[in-house]
Amino acid sequence: MRLLTDFPRVNLGCFPTPLVRLDNLSRMFGKEIYCKRDDLSGVGLGGNKVRKLEFLLADAQMKGAQVVMTTGGAQSNHAMLTAACCNRLGLEAQLLLKRRGVSDPVGNVYLDGLLGAKVDFFDTDDYGDIYAEMARRKTALEAEGKRAYEIPVGGSTALGALGYVECFRETMVQCAHLGIRPSRIVSAVGSGGTYAGLCAGADLYAPDVKVTGVAVDSDPFDRICAQLKLEIGGLLELERPLTADNIELYDNVGPGYGIPGPGERETLELVARTEGIFLDPVYTGKAFSLLLQKLRAGAWAEDETIVFLHSGGAGGLFAIDLP
Ligand SMILES: *Cc1c(COP(=O)(O)O)cnc(C)c1O
Repeated sequence: MRLLTDFPRVNLGCFPTPLVRLDNLSRMFGKEIYCKRDDLSGVGLGGNKVRKLEFLLADAQMKGAQVVMTTGGAQSNHAMLTAACCNRLGLEAQLLLKRRGVSDPVGNVYLDGLLGAKVDFFDTDDYGDIYAEMARRKTALEAEGKRAYEIPVGGSTALGALGYVECFRETMVQCAHLGIRPSRIVSAVGSGGTYAGLCAGADLYAPDVKVTGVAVDSDPFDRICAQLKLEIGGLLELERPLTADNIELYDNVGPGYGIPGPGERETLELVARTEGIFLDPVYTGKAFSLLLQKLRAGAWAEDETIVFLHSGGAGGLFAIDLP
């Protein structure tokens, strides 16, 4: 087996991120509810992509890249954080974004501008078109003697997902220090890497912890996450392959990716007003809404200790209206 520390990694974020008890929500629901504050990961406005980028950009540097290309929706947190992290490392970031969502110069698009990233919008709903354009640019850059590194949407490769294997491990160490044993960790699922990494982490470090994913887009995440888990197991050279056994996904896409659902304002207000924490309209708002539904319906065991992964997304608050 290879250890996480065997993989090249650049130091970009502020880790460990805090693990805090949500006292008021715990009292309200008669459960132990904690929040893993990866929204405070320490680059840009924070968020989950920083952990992935620590592995991905180390790989880019090792391969001698000067240019890093990635993609996402117009308000992509991943693209913004890729630009921010590239700036730290002296790499040039090129963001090839779908126009889907709010492409006005607000929210993350505004931040992309402050960061000085090269941003181009594409009128397509197929990432295949964007990857084809990346391949063309890569060839053109090579002709100029420059090397480019491509990061797929969300940074959700097995290598990027190692960041969330590590996050799971880090969270368990923090729980041990607090003298608690979580029964469940809840996370949003947008491209799958975060969730697959957490599931792999649970397999490796604490198989009794359930990992609940809340899909905020309509891709086949069962299949995507099972495949990512296989690849993570491959990277780690595990003797037995990681299975899909602990994958537990719920759907809360609502009206569509990046479009807040009807109850979402209430969720964001509840968490802001009880705990002073801002969720985001695209990912954590939908994931927390599903958590609230389960708590209100008494769906899970009485004595659950739940850790909600706050994966960031603050930029979206300044671009996307909540109904
Ligand atoms: C990208 C993102 C997610 C989803 O993570 P994936 O690894 O893409 O599934 C969740 N929350 C926020 C704020 C994100 O930016």
